[in-house]
Amino acid sequence: LGSLQVQAAETIRFGTEATYPPFEFLDENNELTGFDIDLAKAICTEIKAECTFNNQPFDSLIPSLRYRRFDAVIAGMDITPARQKQVDFSMPYFENSASFVAAKTKPFKSADDLKGKAVGVQNGSTFQTYMIDKFEKQGVTIRPYETIQNAFLDMTNGRVDAVFSDTAVANDWLLERGEGDYGHLGETIRDAEYFGVGYGIAVRQNDPLKERIDNALTTLKKNGTWQAIHDKYFPE
Ligand code: GLN
Repeated sequence: LGSLQVQAAETIRFGTEATYPPFEFLDENNELTGFDIDLAKAICTEIKAECTFNNQPFDSLIPSLRYRRFDAVIAGMDITPARQKQVDFSMPYFENSASFVAAKTKPFKSADDLKGKAVGVQNGSTFQTYMIDKFEKQGVTIRPYETIQNAFLDMTNGRVDAVFSDTAVANDWLLERGEGDYGHLGETIRDAEYFGVGYGIAVRQNDPLKERIDNALTTLKKNGTWQAIHDKYFPE
């Protein structure tokens, strides 16, 4: 008795939405990869757990977390006061801002010119809420998409005039698919009430997992792992 104890490794199940490069996406071999995925794996290594990932629509991630379908969400998710009523967040792990993208040929100079135009957003995102609150009354049509990639695609097809999303994701799209024909419309926007103070990993309220994730993040920032993951997905 007590001589041999075989302990199964703990598993931390993450929920994500894998069409959000460079944070989470499927590579050419259909493997889940990205900044968030590498970071989650590094956190799991740090706390000596196994990681698994569930891929599902962005607007279902918080409800599924609350229903215990998984234990944490890493999905380029802004730490906002509204979400903090439903879940707890780790410390911020990535600085965020919001950007409009539009064709360079469009006669828009700034977001004020979007009156009467249609703007694509990710369904369930902070961008959707911001657009509804700040632009809908001014006659801007807000089109929610299941994935931001489809919003960008519809912009290239002329079905929406602009896309409003995370600056880092917009930049990735501009670089990979924009072919020089699209660019930022106006300045990037930082508004803590809507977009919080960076991305966080969501866990259920009062789950002690939060503290373990925070401790791991502190270590990964100190020991250079966070920076190495950053430089892999944001080279230069
Ligand atoms: N950063 C945005 C949010 O938190 C969008 C995230 C996403 O679409 N994956 O709502």
